[in-house]
Amino acid sequence: MKSISAKITGASQVVFILGHPVSHSLSPAMHNAAFEKVNLPWLYTPLDIFSREVGPVVKMMRAFNTRGANVTVPYKEKVLSHLDWIEPEARWLGSVNTIYRKDDQLCGTSTDGEGFLRSLGSWRSRLNGTKGLLIGAGGAAKAVAGALAHAGVKGFYVANRSGAKGAKLMKSLRKKYPRLDVQAIPLRDVDRFVPYSNWIVQSTSLGLKGEASPVSLKGARKGTLAVDLIYHRETDFLKQAKHFGLVHWGGLGMLLHQGALSFEIWTGRKAPIEVMRQALVNGLKFR
Ligand code: NDP
Repeated sequence: MKSISAKITGASQVVFILGHPVSHSLSPAMHNAAFEKVNLPWLYTPLDIFSREVGPVVKMMRAFNTRGANVTVPYKEKVLSHLDWIEPEARWLGSVNTIYRKDDQLCGTSTDGEGFLRSLGSWRSRLNGTKGLLIGAGGAAKAVAGALAHAGVKGFYVANRSGAKGAKLMKSLRKKYPRLDVQAIPLRDVDRFVPYSNWIVQSTSLGLKGEASPVSLKGARKGTLAVDLIYHRETDFLKQAKHFGLVHWGGLGMLLHQGALSFEIWTGRKAPIEVMRQALVNGLKFR
């Protein structure tokens, strides 16, 4: 392993990831590889903190002129009240994954939604006017739903275990995007909507530990896009997508592109995507 201290200079900056726990995070490997690639003597390091420390840590960051931080589970919501300014989309989401400095202020944004869209590659330009199926209504689902609405989809079905949470997401989307055709459906009925979907996004945590997919993809039409936000393994959802010949991928691309966007915000430079992707792939291999 190369020495980190050899790279620290008077011009060095420290960027953090705040969370609990954070030891499993692939972001330090991804961002440190990127800093090295673009010859920035910066350091990206985890800060595993307790909930009561979120405010004091943000205050400390303000005091020593840091360029910013990432925020992960469970502080993506809590951190909002400690920042000076929140971008409108992040305020709507109620979630911040990136802190950056603007003059003497610490600002919050979320790169998850745009990271998801970028991960779609050429599929992004095919979203306009489509209808799809979003499974899950948690934080990741809301970021993806907002991004899809922004990208011009005609509408989608939201299927969630907790009907109340699915309905809440539907209402929030209808309020923000009045022309969006969004309908909350019970998770038990989800298979019925598969044939009517141009794309299907699996955003629940089902599959993280090898659980069965919440949906059967048997009825999907040829050419349907199937994305699972889980990036840790090949899930049952992805195995099914492969089996039925669908266009499919996991969540690594979203993880990569949300990180690339954070990098670009902090440094003002274009992110070295391939180096960052390789760092993530290596990180997953050595788990
Ligand atoms: P949340 O805790 O906010 O939401 C969890 C979602 O999973 C909810 O819809 C919840 O339903 C559902 N769920 C959990 N357990 C079950 C179950 N047993 N049966 C049915 N549904 C269940 O988490 P996030 O939205 O932040 O994350 C969700 C997934 O997305 C995670 O696997 C995470 O790793 C992944 N993710 C990937 C990212 C990437 O960059 N690729 C970024 C962020 C997240 P209910 O409301 O009923 O509890």
